[in-house]
This record gives sequence, C-alpha cells and structure tokens, in this order.
Amino acid sequence: MEIGEIRCKGILGRSGIGGMDYAVNPYLGCGHACAYCYARFMRRMGHPGEEWGSFVDAKVNAVKRLREEAARKPRGRVLLSSGTDAYQPVERKYRLTRGCLEVLLEHGYRVDVLTKNVLVLRDVDLFRKFDEVEVGFTVTSLDDSVRRAFEPGASPIKARLDALKTLSDEGIPTYAFLGPMLPYLSDEGLEGLLNVLADRVGRIIVDRLNIKCGNMPDVRRVLAAGYPDLGPMFEDALAPDSDYYRGLRSRVSEMCGERAIPVDIVY
Ligand code: SF4
Repeated sequence: MEIGEIRCKGILGRSGIGGMDYAVNPYLGCGHACAYCYARFMRRMGHPGEEWGSFVDAKVNAVKRLREEAARKPRGRVLLSSGTDAYQPVERKYRLTRGCLEVLLEHGYRVDVLTKNVLVLRDVDLFRKFDEVEVGFTVTSLDDSVRRAFEPGASPIKARLDALKTLSDEGIPTYAFLGPMLPYLSDEGLEGLLNVLADRVGRIIVDRLNIKCGNMPDVRRVLAAGYPDLGPMFEDALAPDSDYYRGLRSRVSEMCGERAIPVDIVY
C-alpha cells in the first residue's frame, strides 16, 4: 500500500446522493480495495494506471479546510464518505475522520456514516453527542469468503455485524446497506443475514450491482479466480431490469416485511 499526503482545496462538497447535502472524503483512494468499487475513477487524480486499492492519499489539511467551510455554509446532512471509506486502516494513523466529525458536531451538521470498517467504533463517544446521526455498515454477504474475494481490505462480516450490535446497544441509530447485491452470491444466506440484522439496525437499504467506472474487469477477475462457473449467469443478471434483480426485489421486500425491518430498495 502506497500512502501519500496531499492538500485539498475544498472538503465539504455537494453530494449527488439522494437525501444528502454534502459529502466529506478525507482520503483519496481506499485500502479496502473492493473489486466492484464505483470510486475507482478517482485514480485519474494523481494515480493513473495504478491498481485500485494500492494507494491512499491523506488530505492532511482536511480538518482545517472543513473548519473554514463548515462555519460559512448552510447547515445540512453530511455523508461520510462517498468516494472513499472514512474508516479505512490509514484513519488509525491520521485521525482525519475523527477531526472532521468534531468540526461537524461543533457546527451543528447532521452526519450519516457508511463504512466497512469496525474502526468506526472508536468514535462512539462523538456519535453520542450529535442531535442527528446515523451509522451504517455495508454488508454484501453473510459469507466471509465472498468478503475476502470482493472486499479484501475491509473488516470481516462477523466483526461488522458485531459492531452494529455495539452501536445499537449504545443507542446510536444504525442501518445496513446491502449493496451492491452480487448476483447468486449475496442472496446465499440472505434470510440468516436479515435475522441477524433485525434487532440491530433501524432500516436496510438494498442496491444492485451497476457496471460503472470500469469496475467490470476487476469483478470478472474475482469471478474467474473464485467462481469460474458463475460468470455467464452473473453477467446475465446485470442486464437492465433483469429477471434476477426483479425477483430479488420481491424476495427482499417479503423477507423484510416478515421481520418488520423497514427497507428501501433503490434500484
Ligand atoms: S470501501 Fe467503498 S470506497 Fe473503499 S474500495 Fe470499497 S467500495 Fe470503494
């Protein structure tokens, strides 16, 4: 992993994600190295041609910039993060996410966290102080071998589920993002996953896998190495309005209904 330090011109950027006003990305790149990652287009900012997941740049002036911007911009809802994972391993050293959280708390912003790393538990003391905060974990499968194949640098699934329980027990509003749902892999054991989530998240968001920003070569590489027989079926499922994702939508709605879990299927 190549770790660099850069300075950013702005940090409290407008978010294109529904319901969010801003996104804060304290890092460029991500050590979680997910094969399906949609943020790999960021490579063009200083890392053309490099393997996604092999570099991270820490925006070392992020907290200082945020302090200036947060004071003058209209208050709103901030997503941490959209183009990186704010709790990836380098955060242990740089503590930029924690610094940004302190600034957002001080200035009365609402924060929504989405992560795949249990380092988020370090900041429970800050989450408790927010008037409005929600902390979510991405979970794409109950099977940790799928996690190791597609999200090699992220926390194991059991650790994420345990962290959701800890957050929930601490009274922090929580959610799970089941996405991207990987055809025929994420739905293995889905009922069991929902049984576990039912008492530890307030809601679930479900999304499909989109072919975006050149992620398919990496997805195909992982499929060929670990799931060679699945390739053609997997790719058929990615067609727009495929039978697979239509069927998954009804199955997930029904399963969440049976467990009284509020669910938002966003595809
Ligand atoms: S955790 Fe998120 S930003 Fe990081 S590689 Fe995975 S999908 Fe991309």
